[in-house]
Amino acid sequence: AHLDRIAAEDGALGAYLHVERDSALAAAAAVDAARAAGDELGPLAGVPVALKDLVVTEGVPTTSGSKILEGWRPPYSATIATRLAEAGTVLLGKTNMDEFAMGSSTENSAYQVTRNPWDRDRIPGGSSGGSSAAVAGHLAPWSIGTDTGGSIRQPAAVTGLVGHKPTYGSVSRYGLIAFSSSLDQAGPMARTVLDAAVMHEVIGGHDPRDSTSIDSPLTGLAAAARAGAAGDLRGLRVGVVRELGGDGHTEGYEDGVLARTREAVELLASLGAEVVEVSCPSFDLALPAYYLIAPSEASSNLSRYEGVRFGLRVGDDGSHDLDEVMALTREQGFGPEVKRRIILGTYALSSGLYDAYYAQAQKVRTLIARDFTAAFTGVDVLVSPTTPTVAFPIGSRVEDPIAMYAADLCTLPASLAGLPAISVPSGLSEGLPVGFQVMAPALADDRCYRVAAALE
Ligand code: GLN
Repeated sequence: AHLDRIAAEDGALGAYLHVERDSALAAAAAVDAARAAGDELGPLAGVPVALKDLVVTEGVPTTSGSKILEGWRPPYSATIATRLAEAGTVLLGKTNMDEFAMGSSTENSAYQVTRNPWDRDRIPGGSSGGSSAAVAGHLAPWSIGTDTGGSIRQPAAVTGLVGHKPTYGSVSRYGLIAFSSSLDQAGPMARTVLDAAVMHEVIGGHDPRDSTSIDSPLTGLAAAARAGAAGDLRGLRVGVVRELGGDGHTEGYEDGVLARTREAVELLASLGAEVVEVSCPSFDLALPAYYLIAPSEASSNLSRYEGVRFGLRVGDDGSHDLDEVMALTREQGFGPEVKRRIILGTYALSSGLYDAYYAQAQKVRTLIARDFTAAFTGVDVLVSPTTPTVAFPIGSRVEDPIAMYAADLCTLPASLAGLPAISVPSGLSEGLPVGFQVMAPALADDRCYRVAAALE
């Protein structure tokens, strides 16, 4: 049924870069045969899934939305892809994304524009916009996104989905094409909180192949979602972050978004939660700090694309030396936003400027983490809008990188501090979905699921 929907709808939506029709049908048939034979089945046997195209999948094209990886078929699979396959899921295909996950609208993909199923003239968010459009358009029941500064939560918010960014280190990064390694984290995008929790339990947990993987048990997420759905939040302390759309901090926020946020907070209170306002002054600096740290790490990570080991190679005709082949390959293989970040990152890391930019941004990152620590001495979760605006029209921000970066205003603090954060639908504004964000202390992802499920 999902393959039929893809065939009928994806020409208009552009959610998928690659569809695995034959292998998906074969895998589904194998599940049927195993069931008929009475064999033991995985917990998600036969459930289809879509993966963002930076999740490395053995033998399946994986581009990270970039021309520089066109034609690459990886010789191995990411840990999360392997875990999903072992649970019995069936891979439908790979979803479109901003090139190397740099963007908030999926318009930076080197391949195609993806449209928001709610209004096809609007963006589906980004960078995981193919994953959000696929699920919101019912072209997949759920999907995997990745979030470096908001790329699971923001696309989920603007397409009416649930999207969770796990605690940094709690989901393996092995086999995820790196953007900014100290921030990147994969997570679930789904139509319900329980679906997201179930998928998170399958992909999460320690992985010795990821040096930043946390060796700590990951349990109780689905149970937390079920508990939250019962709607009793007595004893829970909720902090509303003033700097994210509160008094004196509403510039750039749409009225409809602020109204839905107020209603969600009132609902939490009506379910028994104790609600207070909390100030996190360093959050105002999250945007500039992120846009130094993430490009710095990206400029280093992307140095591996030199036209020799992966994908595209330009100028290899005997008339160019090695340096020229590398330069030509990178010039033609990378798009404008990727080049902008490489230049920005290389500049911020250069000797003489390192202390003024990169090191300063790292200090701000510490201040943001301290704001969270202080806030969580008094409350169990922090809440805010997920995005300042609803989905904006395709093309409206491509010429203005700063306006595009502002889409991440609310999601960046939890990213910089490595904390779990979920976006859950909180109604509509002018017919378009609004997302509500719930942030929790490290490894307290279950709180995100509990509170989000209470709001569902
Ligand atoms: N939009 C942000 C950026 O462009 C975040 C992207 C992400 O989370 N991958 O960097």
